[in-house]
Amino acid sequence: MRQSLIMGNWKMNGSRESAKSLSSAILAGLVENENATIAVCVPYVYLSDLQALTANSPVEIGAQNVADQASGAYTGEISSSMLQEFDCKYALVGHSERRSYYGDTDASVAARFCEAQKNGVIPVLCIGETLAEREQGDTFNVVNTQLDAVIAVAGIAALANAVIAYEPVWAIGTGVTASDDQAQEVHKAIRARIASKDQAIADNMQILYGGSMKAANAKGLLSMPDIDGGLIGGASLDAESFLAIYHSV
Ligand code: PEP
Repeated sequence: MRQSLIMGNWKMNGSRESAKSLSSAILAGLVENENATIAVCVPYVYLSDLQALTANSPVEIGAQNVADQASGAYTGEISSSMLQEFDCKYALVGHSERRSYYGDTDASVAARFCEAQKNGVIPVLCIGETLAEREQGDTFNVVNTQLDAVIAVAGIAALANAVIAYEPVWAIGTGVTASDDQAQEVHKAIRARIASKDQAIADNMQILYGGSMKAANAKGLLSMPDIDGGLIGGASLDAESFLAIYHSV
C-alpha cells in the first residue's frame, strides 16, 4: 500500500514573516493523518526557519530545485549537501517553470536528480505536457521522454528513492485542473512505463498529481488508483486550504 504525499510548493511567494506565519498556521491546524505525509517546498532562504519550526513535527521540508553539480564555481546554485544541512528531505527537479523560464533540460534535470540522491535528498521529478502537446496527441510521448531521460542517466533502481509529480503544464496555476480520469490515465501510463523496467519499483512509486489542485477537487483526484498525492502551488499558500487537502486523504 503506497502512502500518499501532500506537498506544497510555495514558489517565490511571501516574506520571511509570512513563511513563518504560514508554517505556524499549518502546524496549529494539523491533525496527523496516518494515510499521508505532508511536506512544503519553500524558498531556499527560509529553509533554516522552517527547519527550526517543523522540527519534531510531521511536516517535512523540501527545496524547489537543487544544483546539477556537487560544489565549486557555480554562482547562484545550491547543492544537495547544503540542503541536507537543513534537514531538507525533498527537492523538486524539473518543475515546468524551471524548464520553461530557466532553461532546465532533460539532461540537467537528470543531473539534478542524481545530485539530490547523492546526499540523501529525495528528488521529486516533475514531468508533464503543454497544452499544445496534449492537443497534438503527444502527452504520453512527452512524459515518457522526460521520464526516460532520467532513467537513462540514474538507472531504474534510483527511482526507488524518488517521487514523480505529473503536472500538466496547462493546469499549473491556471485554475484548470485535469479531470480525475485524464490525470489517472497519465498516472497509469507512467506507472506502466516504470513497470516495463521494474515491477516492484512501479508498485511502490509515489506519483503525485499537480495542477490547480485545491480542497474542492482533491478528493476525486486523490481517490484515483494511481494518484498517490498532490504537488500543490497556489492552494498551499493558505493553511486552511492546504490542510483541507491533507486531511481529505
Ligand atoms: C505547482 O507549482 O507545482 C502547481 C501545481 O501549482 P498550482 O497548484 O498553483 O497549479
